[in-house]
This record gives sequence, C-alpha cells and structure tokens, in this order.
Amino acid sequence: MPRPVINYEKLGDNTEIIEICPTNVFAKEGNKVVVKNPKECIGCRACEVQAPEGAVKVID
Ligand code: SF4
Repeated sequence: MPRPVINYEKLGDNTEIIEICPTNVFAKEGNKVVVKNPKECIGCRACEVQAPEGAVKVID
C-alpha cells in the first residue's frame, strides 16, 4: 500500500501538497503539514513531484 513520507527539513513551510493531493491525504496541523489519511493514498506521486526535491517520498 503506497504512502507518503515527509522530510520536514526539506519541506519547510511549503503547503502546496495539501491541495495537489487528489484524495486529501495531507492536512495542516498548526503550521506544519501532516499525513492525516495515509490509507487514502493511491500512489499517484503528485505530491512527490510538486514538493521541493526530496521533501516527499512515496513508498510502496
Ligand atoms: S501519492 Fe498521490 S494520493 Fe498519495 S499522498 Fe501523494 S498526491 Fe496524495
């Protein structure tokens, strides 16, 4: 089952992956992005492409 893993050092305050995810896996908690609904991930990798390099890795 695919799921995204966030590298917070590289993601910084970038929140664009919240909107780019078609299944609402991410949410904002305080001032950081969290993986809120990991089971909804369909492995499209849009978040990986959108995020700064190395900030999000989708693992299978
Ligand atoms: S791989 Fe696709 S579905 Fe999964 S978290 Fe990233 S954008 Fe969302």
